[in-house]
Amino acid sequence: MIAPDRPAAHKSWFRRASSIGLVLIAAALAFLAFLIWNGSRLLDAPLAALAGDRMVPAHDELFAADALRVFVCGSSSPLATPDRAKTCIGVIANGRILLFDTGAGSMRNIENWRLKPERISHVFLTHFHSDHFADLDEVAVQSWIMGRSEPITVFGGEGVERVVEGYNQALALDAGYRNAYGTERFFPIAAATLRPHPISPLPGRAVPVFREGKLVVSAFAVDHGIVKPALGYEVRYGDRRIVISGDTRRNPGLETIAEQTDVLFHEAYSGRLTEIIGKGARQSGNARMQYILGKAGDYHTPSEDFSELAGSTRARRVVMYHLAPPPDNFVMKRIFLSGMPDNVTLAEDGQLFTLRPGETGIDESWIAAP
Ligand SMILES: [Zn+2]
Ligand SMILES: [Zn+2]
Repeated sequence: MIAPDRPAAHKSWFRRASSIGLVLIAAALAFLAFLIWNGSRLLDAPLAALAGDRMVPAHDELFAADALRVFVCGSSSPLATPDRAKTCIGVIANGRILLFDTGAGSMRNIENWRLKPERISHVFLTHFHSDHFADLDEVAVQSWIMGRSEPITVFGGEGVERVVEGYNQALALDAGYRNAYGTERFFPIAAATLRPHPISPLPGRAVPVFREGKLVVSAFAVDHGIVKPALGYEVRYGDRRIVISGDTRRNPGLETIAEQTDVLFHEAYSGRLTEIIGKGARQSGNARMQYILGKAGDYHTPSEDFSELAGSTRARRVVMYHLAPPPDNFVMKRIFLSGMPDNVTLAEDGQLFTLRPGETGIDESWIAAP
């Protein structure tokens, strides 16, 4: 006796249902493609919901008062590279964002990360090479558009008035248009301009320039060859502390200030990679590039010195930044880091360090992974 072929019937029913399902999915996708291709009004509602979501700041938790938070908003040097903005270290404390340099592309990072640009209240410039301040205009305008209602104070050595005045001049027409069009309520004209704050740093001594509660920012002089003044900064938050080198040769004064700091952000160029690229420049007859690369050692710190530098400062973490040439691949990164102790690392845009007062740990995470 032959058993009824129930499994076969079930199989064919399942096959038919699957085919119908596939046809329906294909039809839905084709309909969606038709709507997108024709810019249909039916897409307006989902797009409005998406736009609303994009306007909500993505990182409220970073503004909690429990810690000093430090992020890398630009890890490269004058050389452009797709994945790194030029020099910028950001600090979040007391509900504010403080920027230490604002190299090109750094503000685009902050905007893309939805980091509340309107909270930027102070910029601390290390010196006046343009790879350290070329985004000042974007910082001023975009933070104002996003709702900043107080002027940004720009600290820097002698000459900061000239740089800031130049930006204020360049942005005056833009500020006038926006104020006239958007009303004083949304675009208070007094907040549009940058306010210079000149400081006179001393070598080997960190002098406080900004205090607010647990937060103290101090400045000190470093050695950037013919570029004077050149500053580094120390940021304290309760018993936690970071030091930012700015551009400098090896500098004993800086290394004393950075002794046993939690995180030292120190500029670095790779002597070996610079030599390799210099060879390439010579072979291709590029005398200009060969000349520029040959000068790096005159006023920067070779990565080859970092093992010793980490030992002399005994900083908990040493983060190489202002990377020259910017290491865009694994091989270049290994050349920067070969032979380094574990506490020496390379900065990457989007890196975040969290330091809680009363503790010794350093939480490392990402605002946005590369
Ligand atoms: Zn530089
Ligand atoms: Zn420089």
